[in-house]
Amino acid sequence: MNNRQLFLAHLAQTTDFPLMIEVEKAEGIHLFGPNGEKYIDLISGIGVSNVGHRHPKVLNAIQNQLDKYLHLMVYGEYVQTPQTLLAKALTDTLPSHLDNVYLVNSGSEAVEGALKLAKRYTNRREIISCVNAYHGSSHGSLSVGGNEVFKRAYRPLLPGISHIFYGSFSDLEKITEQTAAVIIETIQGEAGIRVACKEYFQALRQKCTQTGTLLILDEIQAGFGRTGKMWAFEHFDIIPDILVCAKGMGGGMPIGAFIANKEVMGVFKNNPLLGHITTFGGHPVSASASLATVQILHEENLIEQVEPKANLFKSLLVHPKIKAIRNKGLMMAVEFESFEVLKKIIDRAIELGVITDWFLFCDDSMRIAPPLIITESEIRQACSTILQAIEES
Ligand code: PMP
Repeated sequence: MNNRQLFLAHLAQTTDFPLMIEVEKAEGIHLFGPNGEKYIDLISGIGVSNVGHRHPKVLNAIQNQLDKYLHLMVYGEYVQTPQTLLAKALTDTLPSHLDNVYLVNSGSEAVEGALKLAKRYTNRREIISCVNAYHGSSHGSLSVGGNEVFKRAYRPLLPGISHIFYGSFSDLEKITEQTAAVIIETIQGEAGIRVACKEYFQALRQKCTQTGTLLILDEIQAGFGRTGKMWAFEHFDIIPDILVCAKGMGGGMPIGAFIANKEVMGVFKNNPLLGHITTFGGHPVSASASLATVQILHEENLIEQVEPKANLFKSLLVHPKIKAIRNKGLMMAVEFESFEVLKKIIDRAIELGVITDWFLFCDDSMRIAPPLIITESEIRQACSTILQAIEES
C-alpha cells in the first residue's frame, strides 16, 4: 500500500473530505510533496504556523532543549527553565493583572482548565457561551461549543450551560450572579470570522465585573499576533479574567495555556481538592519552541505587518463570485455563493499549488490564515492563483 492508501486504511478519519495533501517537507510558507509538488500554505495548519514552518530559531530552541532533557515530571512539580522563561515572556506581553500561566497541551485542555478554574474560584455552576462558538472537542470544551449538530450525539454534556448570541447587547442581560463565567472567542473563528464591536466587548466586560462573573477569552485562534495585535482583546480595550491560548503559541509544537491572576489561579493549589493535573502540559521542548516563537514575533516585527498584508489580500481578491470578505488582520473568510462553489475552487487552487479550506460552521467561506511571515510578492502570487482557480472551477 502507498502512503495515501495507508492513511485511509489505518488512520481514523475525521471527515468525508480530507484534503489528502501528502507532505514531505515544510519550510516558511511552503509545503513540499513527494512528487515535486510545491504549495503555498494559506491556512497555517489552522492558525498554528504564525512564524512559518520550521522557523530556524524555533528549530534551534528545540535542538538546544533536546540536548538537555525531554519529559521530567508532571506539570507543576519541578522547576523547568523553558516553562519559567515562557511564563515570564507571556506575562510580559500581557496587562500586569494577567500574571499567572498554567501550561497545558492543547486548546481544548486549556479551555477545560479555564472552565474548571472559573467554577472553583466563583463557587458557581453556570456557564455562558456563544452560539456558533468553537472551543474544542473534549466533553467540557464541546459542551460550551455553540453548534447543536456537533453536540447532539454526545449528550448528556456538562449541565448549566446556556448560550447567547455573539455581539448581541440584549443577551448580556442573561449574565447574572449565578454565572461562573462567560467564555467567548474574541474573534469567532469557526463561525467564519465574526468580529463584534468594541462597545459590545466593553459592555460584556462591564456586565461580568458587575455580576462577579469571570470573563474567559478564547484566543486559541486569534492570539499570537494573528489579528495585528499580540492579543485580539487589545483591539477592544478590555482585559479578560482568564485568557486561553494554544495553536500559534508553539511555533508548530503542541502547547496551550490558560492565564489568570495569581489570586484566581491560587484556588487550584488548595488541597485536598484536585485542581488540574496534566502529565505533559508545558512539555519542555514545546515550551522552548514557544519561547522562541514569542521572541520571533517581536524581533521580526511580524505583528505590525499584519494589517497591511491583510489589506493587500483584500485589495487583490476581487471577483464577481466573491460575495464578501470578513477579517480581523490575517484571520480572513472569503465568502462564496455556496459550499459546492467553494469546494471546487478550493480543490482547483490546491491543484494549482495554493492551500485554503473552509470553516467548521461556515461552509460557504474560504479560510485564509497564512503564516504571518508571508511576503507581499507571495500574497500577490497566492491571490492570482486563487483568482485563476475561481475562473477555472
Ligand atoms: N478554541 C478555538 C477558538 C479553536 O479554534 C480551537 C481549534 N480549532 C480550539 C479551541 C481547540 O483547540 P485544540 O484543537 O488544540 O484542542
